[in-house]
Amino acid sequence: MKIKEKILIIEDEANISSFIAAVLEANDYDTMASPTGSKAITMITSHCPDLILLDLGLPDMDGISIIRFVREWSTCPIIVISARNHERDKVEALDAGADDYIVKPFGTSELLARIRTAIRHTRTHLPNGSIAQSGQFKAMGLVIDYDKHQVLVDGQSVHLTQNEYKLVSLLGKYAGRVLTYDFIIRQLWGPKAKSDNQILRVNMANIRRKIEKNPAEPKYIFTEIGVGYRMVDPD
Ligand code: CA
Repeated sequence: MKIKEKILIIEDEANISSFIAAVLEANDYDTMASPTGSKAITMITSHCPDLILLDLGLPDMDGISIIRFVREWSTCPIIVISARNHERDKVEALDAGADDYIVKPFGTSELLARIRTAIRHTRTHLPNGSIAQSGQFKAMGLVIDYDKHQVLVDGQSVHLTQNEYKLVSLLGKYAGRVLTYDFIIRQLWGPKAKSDNQILRVNMANIRRKIEKNPAEPKYIFTEIGVGYRMVDPD
């Protein structure tokens, strides 16, 4: 028997909550739901869900505080589902530890794809929370060879600087997820690094010139304007 993943839906609008539950159940997930933050926290601590879908606007507390609460002790993937479409809301949720952010209204196939990506990521994480640094990332002709520290496009080796390679490999390790500028800067240059998006933008422009056929319409690395970058899902 297949073990079903258990997804907790934290959403105060009953019709949205039951709609999401129906979609997930039809796609072989177990679901449970909470309309409030306080009940959700009880369910998280007692049931340890495999993934959390979180509405930010709840009647009793802000969703961001739920993200912070969970991240104190758990790497359980959290996908924010919110009507708030401001860049600062996305940045705040992702920096607090959310894995992904979907803006309402959304399509069910998009929701299911994001859930698959988030769950796959928890599987590729090592138990200590770090990420496997060996093997290869492959997507539509782009190959990142982590063992050889090499990037290939359509079989051709691409010459990247050290910083460019670090940026590409970081995005590859978290493929499918939006990484905020601050997160990338901290990962690449340490927690004390100055938050300077300009350096990232210059590096990204150079990377795109080297790996994308048309840098103005990238197919590998996407910009979430004002938020960060996202690597395309692997093949
Ligand atoms: Ca709400």
